[in-house]
Amino acid sequence: MNKKERTLVLLKPDAVQRNLTGEIISRFERVGLKIVAMKLVLPTEEQALTHYRINPNLPEKILNHLKTFLSASPVVAMVLEGNKAIPVVRKLIGSTEPLKSDVGTIRGDFTLDSYDLADADGRAVRNLVHASASESDAEQEIKVWFEPEELVNYKSVREKILYDVNLDSKPE
Ligand code: ADP
Repeated sequence: MNKKERTLVLLKPDAVQRNLTGEIISRFERVGLKIVAMKLVLPTEEQALTHYRINPNLPEKILNHLKTFLSASPVVAMVLEGNKAIPVVRKLIGSTEPLKSDVGTIRGDFTLDSYDLADADGRAVRNLVHASASESDAEQEIKVWFEPEELVNYKSVREKILYDVNLDSKPE
């Protein structure tokens, strides 16, 4: 069992342009996820394509839209760590199409874009966040955005409170 699962999260150009980065990051922090890497990047078209080509199911047309969208303006790239980090982050961000994401999720709360509107305008749907879908995707995606030495190893007090068997605070 991997107690320290890692996931790659991108706050897409719409999140950065709308000044939503703090609001979104605070949702990841408050659930208990640990930030192990984070930076602001202006992706190249090649980087955007390398990232999205990890998912073999995306049609070429959507890939092209994603390449244009992601390389148009800075993104915040981050690696989050914690128990079941991959499904926990996916739960917090909500389903891919904002129209269908639940209220209370990041996409559900902060955007009302939809596939038909995106298709009509010939662009990628603006859904604020990308998060890895599986352990194998996370492993490959992290390498697209970070050098190994950019992942910082440190202890967080929060991990002790969440996971230590012995939470004994009585005086000696
Ligand atoms: P997710 O980002 O939730 O993992 P996918 O991997 O299926 O979803 O799609 C990657 C990204 O491609 C989505 O986040 C979205 O920005 C875009 N996208 C997917 N399908 C469409 C579509 N039909 N129209 C416009 N954009 C799309």
